[in-house]
Amino acid sequence: MFKIDLGKNSNVFLDNHYNRLVENSFTLGSQKIKNESSLKKRIDNRIQLLKSSLTSDPLCEKFFQDLKKDNYKWLKIIIQGDPKQLSKVIANVKTRISKGVYPNIEYMKKGDPDKKFGDHIRYVFNYDAFITKPKISKSKVKAGIPYKYDAYKLAEAVNVNVCPYCNRGFTFTLTKGEERLVRPEFDHFFDKATYPYLALSFYNLIPSCHICNSGLKHDAAFTLGNNLHPYLEGLDDYLKFTVKLKDKKLLDGIRKKEIKDYISLFYGNLDGFSLDLIHRVGCERKNLRRANQTHKVFKTIDLFEMHKDLIVEMLQSALIYNESLIQEYIINFEGKLFRNREDILRFLNRNYMKKEDLSKRPFSKINQDIAVEFGIPY
Ligand SMILES: [Zn+2]
Repeated sequence: MFKIDLGKNSNVFLDNHYNRLVENSFTLGSQKIKNESSLKKRIDNRIQLLKSSLTSDPLCEKFFQDLKKDNYKWLKIIIQGDPKQLSKVIANVKTRISKGVYPNIEYMKKGDPDKKFGDHIRYVFNYDAFITKPKISKSKVKAGIPYKYDAYKLAEAVNVNVCPYCNRGFTFTLTKGEERLVRPEFDHFFDKATYPYLALSFYNLIPSCHICNSGLKHDAAFTLGNNLHPYLEGLDDYLKFTVKLKDKKLLDGIRKKEIKDYISLFYGNLDGFSLDLIHRVGCERKNLRRANQTHKVFKTIDLFEMHKDLIVEMLQSALIYNESLIQEYIINFEGKLFRNREDILRFLNRNYMKKEDLSKRPFSKINQDIAVEFGIPY
């Protein structure tokens, strides 16, 4: 996992996300309820419904009234709040449920027709509508009318091109004009089955690959106390990859850059080495536990062990690259084939080698860690 850096524009993203969802409209897919397309209108719709004599439910109505209080203060926190504020929202809702201010927590779940509270919340914070591709109207496109805000627009804005959870898969967003083609999935850090009111919260929507979102994390109950949140921190802050070789002499050989017979190790039975994650010096116990619990969910070591061919290439680099080879490249190619030393190092290491560039290409974290471990210039 690496940390998602929104740069200096995070406020722009947050304001746009809030304004488009709450004030304007977001795509409703096939539902076509045009006049209820903004969150404010959808909240009003629920309040009217819950006030009517047939469907009256004051506890349920209270939740939606609270969202409107103080000029939508609470709604704003839900949509724009940082991960810690979202955690507080969860605690707040739980407290109000336990005090009988809102309906019982069981009424939050999906499926059971009696569990209406959750259904009303899902109606307002409508994630299914957010991810449904809109039908493209050529006349609208011609007239230059911008399409409604949806998952593609969000993915395009945050521009996270590698899955932050695994650092293995690309997650580019591809659109052609108004046509939506490819985008990352959005994982709900706080799972949306348990917390449907956080289904459209900016910091609860983590752009990620299908394997991490649907295959591995799915609806695992993540919390800030137990897991790393990619908008707050990365695995790199606490743990580093290490290569374990069963044959200690070969390990020494690579470290000392002594070319020995590695053929059977590199091209034979790859069980001769394995991977592990070890803690960085000074890493707090609490964070070590959170980092370990998180990478276990994403099967980080098991999955990277399946890329041993890449790791072999990194170990081969460790034996070949040294400062004099880099100098040779600089003399022969700088200004002709490469702009500078950094370009040459990226070419030799097959990856971006600066900590701030971890998000630019898959396998950057393991590449950087192995470079440090084996003294590969980077
Ligand atoms: Zn992934």
